[in-house]
Amino acid sequence: MYFTNKDKPEESLEVGVLIVGAGPAGLGVATALKQAEVNDVLVVDTREIGASFLNWPRQMTLLSPSFHSNSFGLTDLNSIDPATSPADFLRTQHPDGKQYAKYLKAVADYNELTIRTGVHVSSINREDNQFVVTTNNVKIFAEIVIWATGQFFSPRDNTFPGADLALHSSKVSDWSDLEGDEFSVVGGYESGLDAALNLVELGKSVSLYSRGEPWLSDHPDPSRALSPRTYDRLRDIMKLSDTSKNLALFKNTDIRRIEENKGWWILFDQDDIPSVSRTRPILANGFLSGLGPIHKLFKHSIGERLSKLAQERGMLLMVCDQCAVRRGLAEGTFEQCGSGDVKAKGLVEGVVAGCFPQLYTALGSNPPDQVITL
Ligand SMILES: Cc1cc2nc3c(=O)[nH]c(=O)nc-3n(C[C@H](O)[C@H](O)[C@H](O)COP(=O)(O)OP(=O)(O)OC[C@H]3O[C@@H](n4cnc5c(N)ncnc54)[C@H](O)[C@@H]3O)c2cc1C
Repeated sequence: MYFTNKDKPEESLEVGVLIVGAGPAGLGVATALKQAEVNDVLVVDTREIGASFLNWPRQMTLLSPSFHSNSFGLTDLNSIDPATSPADFLRTQHPDGKQYAKYLKAVADYNELTIRTGVHVSSINREDNQFVVTTNNVKIFAEIVIWATGQFFSPRDNTFPGADLALHSSKVSDWSDLEGDEFSVVGGYESGLDAALNLVELGKSVSLYSRGEPWLSDHPDPSRALSPRTYDRLRDIMKLSDTSKNLALFKNTDIRRIEENKGWWILFDQDDIPSVSRTRPILANGFLSGLGPIHKLFKHSIGERLSKLAQERGMLLMVCDQCAVRRGLAEGTFEQCGSGDVKAKGLVEGVVAGCFPQLYTALGSNPPDQVITL
């Protein structure tokens, strides 16, 4: 039968378990399900298997070490299936992004996982007893959905005025591609130090600005303190006078604003003290939640109760538009704040975004008994 594009029926699929995201989390769960003989499983990904790792800067490697200690009953720290070891497969202790993506693909192939790439999930709704999943090219009906989309593709690149003038660390494919000799890095955890150390290793000089002093933290949680690998690299740089002079670490400096002026960038801290950067600042301030289109499927009981109460009692629920834009909870830009054009998103029903003009307009004809600010 011949279909024109217009009348071609939309493809639809029914699956028991849909996993969104073919990174280590999605593939690890798919592998575990396969081993538990749950076979009606489909993994979909907007991009390709291990896309986050394939998009890492060329020089970046896993911080956690790999070692094939499986025969002693100890799992390789970086494995997604306890029976496998990236160290054994790749013959390296700290795989780079491409190597690790190769390991992920090998596990997926070996387990014959059903994966469709090029499928971008844009919304999920619960209807009757199933999830209806809308994507760019196929409608999927699933009994269970596992959301494993990570955070790498949700960089915090619009969280303060002028943040978009900087280059987010996740968008660098090779540190040696950056032109210039002097760099400014905002953020003092793993991504920031990784950027700074790579640039110094390339003979550049770097000023790194950090809230607090993460390099002194001895927090027992390895996700809240620097890794031993990073300390080793930092020590190597600091012990040589010609590399140590190229790295300046500024502690307790919270960059709140960036401005561009005639090809220079000016970074302002919490006290409005400026620092000049001759190259585009590098923003290594991490990532937003990757929950995106499924945020509304989670119950947030306090918010839900407030929303219900607000509807019953005619209360106005307004979120500060600038704070909401900063936190990814609104559609709009900093320039639009105060204009009424910023729209709240991902918040409980009935919440609007605005600033004083919107607040006064909303309350003008109906003055409130009480104003509660949280
Ligand atoms: C600088 C840095 C260093 C790190 N070092 C280490 C380390 O040494 N050791 C360690 O264990 N971890 C490390 N991590 C963390 C590690 O990369 C993440 O924890 C891991 O990638 C998370 O796996 P994931 O499967 O949840 O997400 P990801 O690997 O990000 O996979 C998510 C997948 O979902 C897809 N996707 C996203 N949105 C959609 C959508 N709407 N529809 C369909 N598909 C979608 C993406 O294309 C992607 O392929 C590091 C991270 C960074 C940024």
